[in-house]
Amino acid sequence: MKEQGDSQVSVHINGIKVSVEEGTTLLQAANSAGIEIPTLCWAENLTPANACRLCVVEQQGSRTLVSSCSRVCEDGAQVLTDTDRVHRSRKMVLEFLASSNDLSQSPDLVAWSKMYDVDTERYKAPAKIEDQIKIEDDLFVRAYDRCVLCYKCVEACGDDAQHTFAIAIAGRGFDARVSTEYEVPLPESACVYCGNCVGVCPTNALQFKTEFDLRDANDWRPSEQTVTETVCSYCGVGCSLELHTQDNHIVKVTSPSDHSVTSGHLCIKGRFGWQYVHAPEFKPREAP
Ligand code: SF4
Ligand code: SF4
Repeated sequence: MKEQGDSQVSVHINGIKVSVEEGTTLLQAANSAGIEIPTLCWAENLTPANACRLCVVEQQGSRTLVSSCSRVCEDGAQVLTDTDRVHRSRKMVLEFLASSNDLSQSPDLVAWSKMYDVDTERYKAPAKIEDQIKIEDDLFVRAYDRCVLCYKCVEACGDDAQHTFAIAIAGRGFDARVSTEYEVPLPESACVYCGNCVGVCPTNALQFKTEFDLRDANDWRPSEQTVTETVCSYCGVGCSLELHTQDNHIVKVTSPSDHSVTSGHLCIKGRFGWQYVHAPEFKPREAP
């Protein structure tokens, strides 16, 4: 029942009554009650793209499963997040993704594949997009065989963060892919190399060149890495940085998505401009 005197609504999720502000999504309500729902295309710093269909749940009275990331709580709604029907649907989505993508670099996807008993061989792999890995600069790599078309990078490059609109989804069906305008190489596109697309990618399809090179050399050791929070040294905005280091070398830089200044987004300097830290030691010239 709607509670009097405020703008709260109540829903029942898996039998638990959850009261939330009007406008709250089912996913947010479930999270606030400690109920986890898997999602690929949702992020707290982006508008829900409603693309991956992993977060579907059953809502009483609804003929089809509903996307919990975008469905707003309706007062009195009865919702179930882990029924057989939900389970089957999530398993099928994951099997479709596994049929044409390498999901191995996403710890979440690896865990969900086990949880939903995914058969990665169930569907025959479709024809792959040619030119699977694009290495066009020293900053980040685009690996199309890991891209699940979640739209997060497009949103981050567009009106959710960067407002550069350098990338969009092009093509149809199996040919659908993230592309620059007229498929020009990234350095010739409108891209300003903020790396905000890299920061939101859930599958590592977009990854720092440093990480790519270390993985290539079989030397990427996340369990031995440390993360140090600091403030960017370039300008007065005060963006919060997380420096990921391995063997005392910075291997990538992120920013917390719940940070009040950055919302997880940075500019090229904060994201990629740290090589000077590892410059050879400066030796003053000896006096003649
Ligand atoms: S680096 Fe920034 S500008 Fe370039 S594609 Fe990614 S989000 Fe867009
Ligand atoms: S590159 Fe990453 S963020 Fe962009 S659509 Fe593909 S999986 Fe999503």
